[in-house]
Amino acid sequence: MTEPAELSEEGRKRIREGLAEMRRRPDRHAKGLVIVNTGDGKGKTTAALGILMRSWGRDMKVVMLQFIKHQSANWGESRAARRMGVEIIPLGSGFTWMSKDLERDRALARAGWQRCREAIESGQYDVVILDEITYCFTYGWLDLDEVLDVLRSRPPGQHVVITGRNAPAPLIEFADLVTEMREIKHPFKSGVKEQKGIEF
Ligand code: ATP
Ligand code: MG
Repeated sequence: MTEPAELSEEGRKRIREGLAEMRRRPDRHAKGLVIVNTGDGKGKTTAALGILMRSWGRDMKVVMLQFIKHQSANWGESRAARRMGVEIIPLGSGFTWMSKDLERDRALARAGWQRCREAIESGQYDVVILDEITYCFTYGWLDLDEVLDVLRSRPPGQHVVITGRNAPAPLIEFADLVTEMREIKHPFKSGVKEQKGIEF
């Protein structure tokens, strides 16, 4: 009987890459969900980050695009994302939004939305998180129908997570999973300041 041939380093690498590719491949039975985290209570972005971590752990490709947020490049989640090799993309700092110049805000929102749209349509991502995009509807910066059209024709199996207060009714209607965070207590209300690891 002949000895089985030793696998070369190159062969082993190809097998490893093949297995990783299989793990990444979307489940044929997967149904892409539109998930909305809304309401006035804390936890909308935090819950979206939970999905980011969970899907990353499944070797899925995930990206979070953040509207509105203040300079967040060094917040805990951004530090973690850099180490994980996950993209969290800020779309303009909190200071650049709400400039009282509606046209400028609208242009910033539209530019941010174009990046979201490209991420969705690229087919590169299994999960796309649009953090705080609902404010763009509240302030009339983005056309909800246009966003719904892009969601409707997104790559099959892709999940999109949307966070922000006051999610508009047609978005809630369209979504598959909607959760309303409701405040029962919040430490800010009793004067406790932001805590590292909890808020930033
Ligand atoms: P988080 O990012 O902590 O999950 P969130 O996404 O639910 O919060 P946002 O509407 O994005 O909430 O607001 C972000 C900031 O507002 C956070 O600092 C958060 O603690 C604060 N915040 C959220 N809910 C409340 C509340 N009910 N009362 C006071 N502050 C709040
Ligand atoms: Mg948030």
